[in-house]
Amino acid sequence: MEQKNIMKYCKCGCGQEIIDNNYTNKQFVNFHQNRGRKFPTEFGRKISKTLKGHHVSDETRKKISDSLKGHSYSSCYYRNS
Ligand SMILES: [Zn+2]
Repeated sequence: MEQKNIMKYCKCGCGQEIIDNNYTNKQFVNFHQNRGRKFPTEFGRKISKTLKGHHVSDETRKKISDSLKGHSYSSCYYRNS
């Protein structure tokens, strides 16, 4: 039985060729189907929640600040000596 390969280009606009030899009517290279699409609202909410989780608390800021102070002290020490 003759198998015919259909050459197509990915619809996301990346210019990659799709070799569709199973007549699956693929329109995108693997994983390109989500490109250019807006995230579903729920997914967007999850992302913003994750980003908020990255917010540094005041306590952490203080710790970072203290450790930086320690560094600047030692660099001052070396500069003055
Ligand atoms: Zn693509």
